[in-house]
Amino acid sequence: MTTSASVIFNERKGQILRKGQGPFDMNCNRESLAGAVSQRACVFCGSRVVLYPIADAIHLVHGPIGCAAYTWDIRGALSSGPALHRLSFSTDLQEKDIIFGGEDKLYRALVELIDRHHPNAAFVYSTCIVGIIGDDMEAVCRRVSAEKNIPVLPVQSEGFKGSKREGYSAACKAMFRLVGTGDTSGISPLSVNILGDFNLAGELWIIRDYFARMGIETVANITGDGRVADIRRAHGAALNLVQCSGATMELAKMMQETYGVPVKRVSYFGVEDMAEALYEVAKFFQAKDPEIMERTRKLVKEELSKLYPQLQEYRKDLWGKKAAIYVGGAFKAFSLVKAFRLLGMQVVLVGSQTGTEEDYRELHDITDEGTIIVDDSNPLELSSFLKEKECDVFVGGVKERPIAYKLGVGFCDHNHERKRPLEGFVGMLNFAKEVHSSVMSPVWRFVPRKKARD
Ligand code: SF4
Repeated sequence: MTTSASVIFNERKGQILRKGQGPFDMNCNRESLAGAVSQRACVFCGSRVVLYPIADAIHLVHGPIGCAAYTWDIRGALSSGPALHRLSFSTDLQEKDIIFGGEDKLYRALVELIDRHHPNAAFVYSTCIVGIIGDDMEAVCRRVSAEKNIPVLPVQSEGFKGSKREGYSAACKAMFRLVGTGDTSGISPLSVNILGDFNLAGELWIIRDYFARMGIETVANITGDGRVADIRRAHGAALNLVQCSGATMELAKMMQETYGVPVKRVSYFGVEDMAEALYEVAKFFQAKDPEIMERTRKLVKEELSKLYPQLQEYRKDLWGKKAAIYVGGAFKAFSLVKAFRLLGMQVVLVGSQTGTEEDYRELHDITDEGTIIVDDSNPLELSSFLKEKECDVFVGGVKERPIAYKLGVGFCDHNHERKRPLEGFVGMLNFAKEVHSSVMSPVWRFVPRKKARD
């Protein structure tokens, strides 16, 4: 028999909390425990997921080919135009390069790629081995930038440097070098930049459409369907909207300090948070446009009147079922807890790879008694919690999917690989459909659910 207690390392106990059993006390934002096979990705991967959706830039991974293969097409970020981001480039460092240095190979690779693809910028990612041999990426990038007359930006993302969070930070620093280099004339006083939305399954287009209906110009979708020229003039927008705050808040803060662009944290998942995001933005611009609030109310009303009758169908079947959530950034978990509540379901397990103490405190506040809250978990812990809580559906990403299926539990992909948009009001309907089809699938009659005693 396997119990939750028997699969938890002593050193991990502070990263797991059961609501109602003592006061809030969470030990998070730390290095993964060696041997615990964390679900987390490396620093380099963290950088690449943030920068990758910039579709008219070259993304060159300076390192052995394995790093590039590991992150190829890692987000299903859609582009409405160029698709350079879907090509995976690597300097493919070999033993000789490690001994004699890889700078020359990097220079030649950059020149060849720029000549062949004519990108508007190039990002060069440093991997573990490059950090060890000490290639001067900064100098090579500067040289190529001067010769080719485009920004060539080093991303200091050596995999061993820390957790995925450091990767986000390296990506923000690289992007910030682009911001402020473009012409801001002609930008509307009612304008925003969208940060932390990766345009998975075209979600960003739904959100842009809402803003357009409110009379707001989107200057740059920085991390989804991104364009170099838009990012260069992003400092001209009146407001930065940050969704995946772990990934892009640092960039927003740098823009606030340097260019005075204010920041709002938003979420486009679930009915409550989506509506709140739109109302918050309307409130921000109300002084400049007194009618914006009315337009926003009309938009929300129209969307909800289409959505609610359809949601009722799914609620009937899903009422009382149990859900587990394990996602990259905790921001998404807040919205998911509310979305499941709207479907009449109970969240019994919630965790993230990179949450902060503030994030977990918020999760603690909004979840029910007995909910397990976990930071930087591993497959053994997650399997054990799923069995203990007898979950009906698990929401996660590509690494969590097999855990759910092996236990006979439904699964909903809420990560990079999703093919249906889950953001916006229409996204809530898609979410309900997806959860419903997985939980109610007849396949579970043939794959009995594993219990805690199994
Ligand atoms: S940990 Fe290092 S070697 Fe592994 S994928 Fe990340 S950068 Fe590459």
